Amino acid sequence: MAGQVRIGVYPGTFDPITLGHMDIIRRGAKLVDKLVIGVTTNPSKSPLFTVEERLAMVQRECEGLDADIEVVAFGSLLMHFAEQQGAGIILRGLRAVADFEYEYQMAGMNQYLNDRIETVFLMADVSLQPIASRLVKEIAMFDGDIAKFVTPTVRVDVLERIAEQRQAAG
Ligand code: ADP
Repeated sequence: MAGQVRIGVYPGTFDPITLGHMDIIRRGAKLVDKLVIGVTTNPSKSPLFTVEERLAMVQRECEGLDADIEVVAFGSLLMHFAEQQGAGIILRGLRAVADFEYEYQMAGMNQYLNDRIETVFLMADVSLQPIASRLVKEIAMFDGDIAKFVTPTVRVDVLERIAEQRQAAG
């Protein structure tokens, strides 16, 4: 509809935010007038960073982007969150075939819940497609270099957190 602000929601765990996420955010922001990045408060996986830390991290990493971006925590059903934000679009990133099955099923179920909101899939730059937060954490825990997968500031956050955990474990 003419004159209506097009709002998109990009949900995720962002534990931590990677260059893959950043690329999807940059691409997604071009498709909407305002992008709401939804940071989940209740991930099934136990996160390395608290929701407050992930919110602050995503916010900080998006500061330099020339786009209307808001970062919001959410713990509700995605469709309810998207509706509450006034979004017409949910953005998801698709990596290889591995993501497809899950995303396909979720998009289908979400259509049942609310068919006014469309799920739009984006692919990151080919060089960034293999990046996953889970692997970034694994590599860092085994002292591998994560510089190619996250920004320098996020790299420091991850290394500090892992050092803290090691210290706490004695
Ligand atoms: P992850 O799956 O890495 O733990 P999230 O749960 O935070 O990350 O993912 C949020 C969204 O970002 C999902 O749609 C996921 O498929 C997408 N995404 C994550 N990493 C990439 C990437 N390297 N390329 C494309 N999409 C990605």
